[in-house]
Amino acid sequence: MSKKINWHYLRQVSQLATIVLVVYLTLNHLNLGIEKAAPIDAYCPFGGFESLLTYITTGEFLNRILLSAFTLLAIVLLFTIFFGRVFCGYFCPLGALQEMIRWFGRKIGIKKDVELPVVIDKYARYLKYIILVVIIVLSYKLGDLVFRNYDPYNALMHLGNEWEEKVYGYSILIILLVTSLFTKSFWCRYFCPLGAALGVAKKFSFFRLKRNEKTCIACNHCNDVCPAGLDVANSDVVKSADCISCLNCVSDCPKNSLTVSIFGKKIFKNKFTIIVVVLFVTTVIGASFSPLWQQKLGSNMKDAQGQIDVRSIRGSNTLEFIIKETGLPFTAFQKEFNLPADIDQVIMLKEIAHKYDLKNKAGEPLETEDFRQFIENNLKSKK
Ligand code: SF4
Ligand code: SF4
Repeated sequence: MSKKINWHYLRQVSQLATIVLVVYLTLNHLNLGIEKAAPIDAYCPFGGFESLLTYITTGEFLNRILLSAFTLLAIVLLFTIFFGRVFCGYFCPLGALQEMIRWFGRKIGIKKDVELPVVIDKYARYLKYIILVVIIVLSYKLGDLVFRNYDPYNALMHLGNEWEEKVYGYSILIILLVTSLFTKSFWCRYFCPLGAALGVAKKFSFFRLKRNEKTCIACNHCNDVCPAGLDVANSDVVKSADCISCLNCVSDCPKNSLTVSIFGKKIFKNKFTIIVVVLFVTTVIGASFSPLWQQKLGSNMKDAQGQIDVRSIRGSNTLEFIIKETGLPFTAFQKEFNLPADIDQVIMLKEIAHKYDLKNKAGEPLETEDFRQFIENNLKSKK
């Protein structure tokens, strides 16, 4: 007799595929530079949230945010309304990594989850909503992605690059990856601002998860496998905004006591998983070929008023591009930084020091910050 396929594993496949895709997009950006390949921020739905107030009031995106981030945000919200927080459960690389590390932790013998006391856990889960509001307001007020350098997701996707700039992001990333060995999704439960935003949307979702009290044998398997640390075994209906629709609990329930419904109609876990993965992937691919994905590259150095914003100059900008955008002649850069006359101007700023062994006035290897300061001083003196 042929064994029935457990389509629930499709969730792990989609999590792995997302990690691979994001690493590919990051490497592409790091190799080709910001002028030819969009930064990873352009593919982050949270970038859309951060830029929302700015876009509503000025019609402009924050620097690094492209239309694709808004389109992804709209898709993710739509799926949350229909299926619950499936983005978190199926397509978030950071969530996936935490789950994998916890799985590994169990394999090496850390069987019991380390949990905060129930009362503290209950209130600590609200922290992420406060973080979300602070980020949205500050990003709007300061006109910048204020969370970027503290964001462990952003750090993860820079694969060790921009260490100094993102030292907090990398530190948080290391802490949460280590804690994932012995506790479940620490970041998602307490701190993730995107999780908070989707948690609000989840309150309006058609997704329902119910427990049949009559058949339940209180074995607690559902609690054990829930990556969100929810008390499924003692809930008639799982109403928590933190449920990520992963269906681990449904899959592992020995008595089939847990059922999922959408619009009040029961749906089996295999069908749910297939629909979510296939529909999400085809929607994103479809959107990426539409005008809603339009990515205006090469304009990262200018603010909403078209003025040069030196803070936005990246190490992945080329010398050729900053000469074109700032209008400063090559000879000015050449004189300031002792650049060779025959330098290939398509070189990225971050590569110049290494390739030509050039130092700044302090005797340190030439950095992007040196270019920022030089450009800022020159633009000031031009005014
Ligand atoms: S309650 Fe079930 S579906 Fe929701 S996060 Fe926990 S295990 Fe996943
Ligand atoms: S896994 Fe199923 S039977 Fe066990 S406690 Fe949860 S709902 Fe009840």
